[in-house]
Amino acid sequence: MAGHEERVITEVAKQLFIGGEWRDPALGATFKVEDPSTGSVLCEVADAGTDDAFAALDAAVRVQPTWAKHPPRERGEILRRAYELLMQRQEDLALLMTLEMGKPVPEAKGEIAYAADFLRWFSEEAVRIEGGFSTAPNGQARFLIMRQPVGPSMLVTPWNFPMAMGTRKIGPAIAAGCTAILKPAQQTPLSALALAQILREAGLPEGVLSVLPTTDAGGVTEPLLRDGRIRKMSFTGSTGVGRKLLEQSSEQVLRTSLELGGNAPFLVFDDADLDAAVEGAMQAKMRNIGEACTAANRIYAQSGIAAEFSRRLSERMGQLRVGRGTEEGVQVGPLIDAKAREKVQHLVDDAVDRGARVMVGGGPDEGAGYFYRPTVLSDVPQEAELSDTEIFGPVAPVITFETEDEALADANDTEYGLVSYVYTSDLNRALRVSERLETGMVGLNQGIVSNPAAPFGGVKHSGLGREGGRVGIEEFLETKYIGIGGVD
Ligand code: NAP
Repeated sequence: MAGHEERVITEVAKQLFIGGEWRDPALGATFKVEDPSTGSVLCEVADAGTDDAFAALDAAVRVQPTWAKHPPRERGEILRRAYELLMQRQEDLALLMTLEMGKPVPEAKGEIAYAADFLRWFSEEAVRIEGGFSTAPNGQARFLIMRQPVGPSMLVTPWNFPMAMGTRKIGPAIAAGCTAILKPAQQTPLSALALAQILREAGLPEGVLSVLPTTDAGGVTEPLLRDGRIRKMSFTGSTGVGRKLLEQSSEQVLRTSLELGGNAPFLVFDDADLDAAVEGAMQAKMRNIGEACTAANRIYAQSGIAAEFSRRLSERMGQLRVGRGTEEGVQVGPLIDAKAREKVQHLVDDAVDRGARVMVGGGPDEGAGYFYRPTVLSDVPQEAELSDTEIFGPVAPVITFETEDEALADANDTEYGLVSYVYTSDLNRALRVSERLETGMVGLNQGIVSNPAAPFGGVKHSGLGREGGRVGIEEFLETKYIGIGGVD
């Protein structure tokens, strides 16, 4: 490892963060964190168990009442200071993220800025939590409506956006006055630990946040979800795990937010600006090496432009440079692990067996890491497995369609409903199609929808609730109504 790489790994804390302190796990276990571009071990971090989870819960429950009363302005200022610290350390944090997750450093820098922006956004929301006061319709009572923090919250995040998925939950939890326990993904604990260091430095009182890396996800989360003192579960990850956590949360009737898998359709109509559509497809497909819940999973191109669109997209995909994310000029890093790469290869093989043509790529790339070549498949039949499976890799399947109705029927023919993309220059069509797409978000002539100031989330099996925007903080607030009688 180069000097800078060694320094950022050395500087990050590797213990559990519980009750404002760095601690060794009760059982003393550790686990290895791997660099997906080389397969080599970066370091070992503490491995939390059930006892550690209960220590974190005890701390969260103990400080919840005082934290709820902490002045909103000060809660906001802690978040604001953390935002500044993230931005000051953007270079180091980006390198740390690249090492554990694989995305190229410039993209990792982008994620640090995106992640920091959630803290800035919610620092502003902390002082805008409002209730209400009104008179009952019959004039015989008054209604006082107050907003209160939900209470101790369990937060579970995935590996693909190791920093932003954390701040998108921690930001509103802190702003609302909730204490929280974060369980980051096993493959990317370092970014979450670095975030805990920063929040502590920014003045977050002890016990408000605990961070528990673990190899025993269920052993850490399930007992807490069933305990009764946790009042909220917020999860980002796959639909299968989300469903399981929803079931576990039902026992104590927890408030739940779920940001789950996607299977985004990307519709390009004959009347689209083709340059813009190709550019948008590159962003929607290749952001994060294709490992994004928002990734364009199925590209539907109308028959008049399908061949030209596929040709231009293939040309652009073929020009991308694959390699270790730390190298200058690299645009596509490795996939997260061998299993992820095998899944991508299986989906490509299945589509080809059913008649798809490989325009570019189509197989693994050289190197010790889990590299896969940017791939475009054309003439993909709708019945190919990848039409209803999250690819989570740099593979763009292009499916040709004739009519708007046909495109909409195919686009909606999935259990997922996170995001869709539409490229057209016809305003009527743009609005009509956007209304009929069964997704929580639509990118209209744009390939990226993520923004801390906008409500992010899905419908159907893609989730419950929204993160970011004005509604993001609502997920961590309860509404209490006080009926006031005897008022003349
Ligand atoms: P995952 O396997 O569902 O894991 C997500 C998190 O859940 C990890 O921290 C994981 O821990 C934990 N987990 C796994 N099994 C668990 C269990 N039985 N009990 C409690 N926690 C458990 O998902 P992933 O592979 O990390 O992430 C990719 C998925 O996330 C994709 O489906 C993607 O679409 C989705 N995603 C959605 C959004 C969104 O906003 N909608 C954003 C990003 C990603 P371990 O690491 O220990 O397994």
